[in-house]
Amino acid sequence: MNILLLLGALLALIYIIARQKFPFRNLAQASILFLLVFTLAGGFNLFWGLLFWSVFLAPVVLLGIPRLRQSYLSRPLLQRIRKILPPMSATERDAIEAGSVWWEAELFRGAPDWQVLQDYRLPVLSAQEQAFIDGPVEQLCAMIDDWDITHKRMDLPPEIWDFLKQHRFFGMMIPQRYGGLEFSAYAHSSVVTKISSRSISAGVTVMVPNSLGPAELLMHYGTEEQKDFYLPRLADGREIPCFALTGPFAGSDAGAIPDHGVACMGEYQGKQVLGLRLNWDKRYITLGPVATVLGLAFKAFDPDGLLGDQEDLGITCALIPANTPGITIGNRHFPLNAAFQNGPNSGKDVFIPLDYIIGGQENIGNGWRMLVESLSVGRGISLPALAVAAGKSCVRHTGAYAHVRKQFNTSIGKFEGVEEALARIGGMTYMMEAGRLLTLSALDSGERPSVITAILKCYNTEHMRQIVNDAMDIHGGRGICMGPSNYLARAYQTLPVGITVEGANILTRSMIIFGQGAIRCHPYLMREMDAATMADLSDAEETFDQALRGHAEYFITNFCRAFIYGISGSHLAPAPYPGRVGNYYRRLGQMSAAFAVTADLVLMILGGAFKRKEKLSGRFADALGYMFYASATLKKFEADGQPRSDLPLVEWSAKYCLYHQQVMRDVSISKFPLKW
Ligand SMILES: Cc1cc2nc3c(=O)[nH]c(=O)nc-3n(C[C@H](O)[C@H](O)[C@H](O)COP(=O)(O)OP(=O)(O)OC[C@H]3O[C@@H](n4cnc5c(N)ncnc54)[C@H](O)[C@@H]3O)c2cc1C
Repeated sequence: MNILLLLGALLALIYIIARQKFPFRNLAQASILFLLVFTLAGGFNLFWGLLFWSVFLAPVVLLGIPRLRQSYLSRPLLQRIRKILPPMSATERDAIEAGSVWWEAELFRGAPDWQVLQDYRLPVLSAQEQAFIDGPVEQLCAMIDDWDITHKRMDLPPEIWDFLKQHRFFGMMIPQRYGGLEFSAYAHSSVVTKISSRSISAGVTVMVPNSLGPAELLMHYGTEEQKDFYLPRLADGREIPCFALTGPFAGSDAGAIPDHGVACMGEYQGKQVLGLRLNWDKRYITLGPVATVLGLAFKAFDPDGLLGDQEDLGITCALIPANTPGITIGNRHFPLNAAFQNGPNSGKDVFIPLDYIIGGQENIGNGWRMLVESLSVGRGISLPALAVAAGKSCVRHTGAYAHVRKQFNTSIGKFEGVEEALARIGGMTYMMEAGRLLTLSALDSGERPSVITAILKCYNTEHMRQIVNDAMDIHGGRGICMGPSNYLARAYQTLPVGITVEGANILTRSMIIFGQGAIRCHPYLMREMDAATMADLSDAEETFDQALRGHAEYFITNFCRAFIYGISGSHLAPAPYPGRVGNYYRRLGQMSAAFAVTADLVLMILGGAFKRKEKLSGRFADALGYMFYASATLKKFEADGQPRSDLPLVEWSAKYCLYHQQVMRDVSISKFPLKW
């Protein structure tokens, strides 16, 4: 009886900690008081008494008394971490610190606040943006003949190039004062989605100048002169830009580019000026073969001290007219029968004045940070939009085809096997669209959520692969034989482009998402890592001790949460409203708590070695990604007014995400290097 009373009190305590009803310190004091009264009232025999007192007292004393904590916990731990933490390179740090942290942090930290999710406003088009989609975008789609583009001409016809320039499709992100359309990220994404559903070649041609590239870099980092000169010309298509980062020896490891520029004097417009002599070799550059201005990333050096006392200046970005002497534009690549322009370029002893550097001389060496910051926005717009375009077209044509195509005297869509594939196409498209909308609401409110955009790029394109494969299977021979009326095969062919560009998916999944997510979303990890590298030891000890105290509280709270939500089958987890859909919120809350505990354990036990455990990191990325999609799905359903007709799609998507989240977390535990 006594023990039952005690267990009841313990469960109540765990619940209160889980729901964070009271400050942690008060709870520790209250529970010790309760235990004391219980002991004095004779509620324990010796065994249970010792067990409970030691379980309670050990952590409370060790964590709660600063002197003890510092001497026996935080100081020795800090010393060990300072020895074993692998050094972080400047490029790694820039990549990790790029962008901001948003909704994913709520999911990561184990207690998503549903009110926060409800308060986000999903984006809507302005009247001007809607008119553009109903007008020029419709007209463009009517002009497009993808078979002519990809099979006969291998390019967009001249009238489409002219139409794109005339209607400022290349200046969607450029402010109106420079002649651009100044569209929201949502409008940009919606335009790309619609065009890509007609022609991937046209979609990519439009998306690239609006995505990571010269205009985006100029708007954020350019000098006023550069903006005044280039932005109007980019907006109306007088200049066609490309951005060249990748080369034969640096693909995913873009920070390792061998391309370089050396500070020197040289001739520019008949005068001797200070500048850089560049040599580079780039490949796979979209729009490169037709570009009039090259955005170029290279490493700058100053061996003669012309710019200061530093020799290795770091990655730098410049805008260089394509007709500058020394530049060679190579023959076009042929990317899986897509006809967007793509090819190599190189430069031999190309002299540029310092004015060509984006942002001028003071931005020499800031190129890497500029690129990763811009990437954290761009990858949330273009390719996720293209993936949604593939999903929506497959829903439309594959659903219709499954109805009209009959075998065994029955529409093939009525066979359960086909039905299952159709359900995947519909459910995944709903979830990808939901992820797109939630991400765009962040981007349009000025956030740059780098982990979310990495998730969206990676998983929207992966799900596009699944959807298009399903659509191909359902179409059978109709999808395989190429010709003007095959609306599916080009999407199937070009799938790997979306998978590979703007961060190849294997790398993004297994290295970036959880690696960056853990450091950015965890409330204490970054502070602990910073303390480990601080030069002043007493500052380091103070910072680390405070972070450790918070970290312990965070871990215990999440542990209690995961336990109590787990044993109650998620019934004790909060939800914004009751009912069937409310239950998915509860489940997600339970998943989030369990994720936070396992992620924390993995990080605590493996420390810096985690960086090399990509199989684990990839599975944690999946788990975080599926939580994101589940929450986005619920958000979309709610924002749309909870239409009953959407319920099957919402339930399919929510179950799919929660199931895979759980599997990924469980598999990651089985892959854990310590078997216990
Ligand atoms: C059609 C097309 C258009 C492009 N447009 C441009 C452009 O406009 N500008 C530009 O600069 N670049 C462009 N690129 C280049 C693109 O960004 C690169 O292809 C991409 O970065 C991958 O580099 P890579 O092809 O050399 O592959 P690699 O870097 O050799 O990668 C091969 C595989 O290894 C994986 N991998 C690599 N490192 C790791 C790791 N640490 N952990 C796990 N997996 C890893 C990758 O995920 C990938 O699956 C384009 C490429 C294509 C195909």
